[in-house]
Amino acid sequence: MTSNQMEEKYYLDDAYTTAFRAKVLSCEKLLNGHFAVLLDKTYFFPESGGQLSDKGKILNVDVVNVREDDAGRVVHEVTAQVDGEVSCDVDWEARFDHMQQHTGQHVLTRAFIEIAGMPTVSFHMGDETCTIDLEGKGLGDQTINAAEDLANAIIWGNREVSARTVPLSRLKEDALRRSLPEGVTDARVVEIENFDAVACCGTHVKRTGELGIIKVLKHEKVKGSVRVHFVAGRRALLDYRDKHGVVKSLANRFTTSVDGILDKTEKLSKDAQLLRKELQKSIKRLAAFDKQRLLAEASTHKGRRFIVHLCEAGDESYLNLLASACKNEAGTIVFLGSKDGHVVCAASPEVSIDLATHVVGAAKEAGGGGGGKGDFARVTLPDSVDVREFLEKVSSYVKNAV
Ligand SMILES: [Zn+2]
Repeated sequence: MTSNQMEEKYYLDDAYTTAFRAKVLSCEKLLNGHFAVLLDKTYFFPESGGQLSDKGKILNVDVVNVREDDAGRVVHEVTAQVDGEVSCDVDWEARFDHMQQHTGQHVLTRAFIEIAGMPTVSFHMGDETCTIDLEGKGLGDQTINAAEDLANAIIWGNREVSARTVPLSRLKEDALRRSLPEGVTDARVVEIENFDAVACCGTHVKRTGELGIIKVLKHEKVKGSVRVHFVAGRRALLDYRDKHGVVKSLANRFTTSVDGILDKTEKLSKDAQLLRKELQKSIKRLAAFDKQRLLAEASTHKGRRFIVHLCEAGDESYLNLLASACKNEAGTIVFLGSKDGHVVCAASPEVSIDLATHVVGAAKEAGGGGGGKGDFARVTLPDSVDVREFLEKVSSYVKNAV
């Protein structure tokens, strides 16, 4: 960093001032209709190092994004032109949230080094949760709990978080958690009292107690590392509130206590499994009954038994089951439809007819579609088609073809 850049970036020395006055140095129109503003000094933090950009106002104009340009200057993207001496306001609620997540990352990263010897290789701050990618192949719940416990002990110890700029010549790089990039002349070292030190240009809380709590939400393997999702501070409160709401709703719905939810869901799951089995048995019995009825009502043509029937009830899977049962009777060709536009057709193997070509072709002509092969076809018809008429029509084609 050069001394000039350090002077204008006031957020580096003071992360808590959010209202200030500054002079607009330039205001240039962007292709998206917004304007890029340079100020003589700023407390707006530009997106970097995984920390999200600040938002806020310059005069009454929205600051929608803040970034550093290639020359290291802080560019404020605003929605309308501004000029002269201006009052500026950083959105404190969002900034403090970012400070909690970002400082929380410092704490959690060091905790995983202490507990599991796993350094962080990257950090991402999202609008709802944050992630760190840890070097390593796996992570168990016990290790996560131990790291989480250590991180929260550091938070509740209310340790000081300090930042100082140190020339490279006076810096013991070994003491830093992460090595410095090539070519830097000095480093802004952020230290958590007797716990962690790293070069960082983000915004941090003054004491770890301001984080309140940190909670790991889940972890997953990602390209040779382990991604840990976490929330800190107010986000952890909101996460707890949401999940507590879900748990309370479940307890009310199952008329049990919060502690009884697991037993209750286990019992419901077993009951549902038994009911599914009973239902399958009943459906098979019904199909056997319907099959006998349809066989009795079937017409014959050239020695073949023709069943053409619109089912009053039953879904597509029931049509499949019934059609399969009917075609097991030698010499049978069956055409079944449901009121919601499903049609299933099947023929006994020895009938030897390309049923699928007839049925799928007719369905396509009618604006529907489907598929099948040889002695079996399954199609769906649009609402405008009368299913009974379609069954009559397609069975007539087939009668002429046998
Ligand atoms: Zn930092």
